[in-house]
Amino acid sequence: MNKYMGLDRAMFDRYAPRQGRKPLLPELSECAQVALMCRMLFREGWNEHIAGHITYRLPNGNILTNPWELAWDELTASDIVTLDSQGNVIEGDWNVTPAIGLHIQLHALRPDINVVIHNHGQWSGIWANLQRVPAIYDQTGAHCGVELPLYNEYAGTFENQATSLSAAEALGDAKWALLANHGALVVGRDLRQAHLRVVTLEWRCKRAYEVELAGGGVPLADAEVEKVSITDANGFPFCWEAMARRELRADPSITD
Ligand SMILES: [Zn+2]
Repeated sequence: MNKYMGLDRAMFDRYAPRQGRKPLLPELSECAQVALMCRMLFREGWNEHIAGHITYRLPNGNILTNPWELAWDELTASDIVTLDSQGNVIEGDWNVTPAIGLHIQLHALRPDINVVIHNHGQWSGIWANLQRVPAIYDQTGAHCGVELPLYNEYAGTFENQATSLSAAEALGDAKWALLANHGALVVGRDLRQAHLRVVTLEWRCKRAYEVELAGGGVPLADAEVEKVSITDANGFPFCWEAMARRELRADPSITD
């Protein structure tokens, strides 16, 4: 993986820092990138106690994930656990959630996606519990397009293999989903794309909740949303790095 984490090369070259300028981020191991992702998403509201799992499939087929015992705002790079493609722990000191089966099934079903994230986010959770799909009211909520599936069959937690397989199959080729009375599921080609999808989903859900609470507004037209949503494929230049730097400033030990 290159240091710019899947950002479209042409777009990156167009805005690349001039020679001699300092890099946007220090070199980061893959485990450090996953630890940073946990910290970044915790700050965005994906912070339900010790709930939530991120998996990141490496080119060799192994899968990195966060440990079960630790909250997303305390773990560091050395806490990240390595699994084989079947979900067996091959390196790491911690346990892995029994709900990891959902991720293993999704990685097997979707060769196009290397990152799977599930949690019970603050704002997406409201809409999941309302069993409604929020409208898009602004540009920031529009980065990943209009379509947002809602799966409204809550059949228990994901430790049950049949339950997790039905959720994985229901996702189909979607990039994200609200899970009724449960939480949200986001997938991506790489960490950068998955990060943009989570932050866009959470922003969209927060804004829609606030706008409706304030008496309602006028959603963006679908055609306008689709124009903005080219970002989803290309990656949002420099956003991942800026949010990663924020975490590294707050706690430089994340990379340990
Ligand atoms: Zn859950």
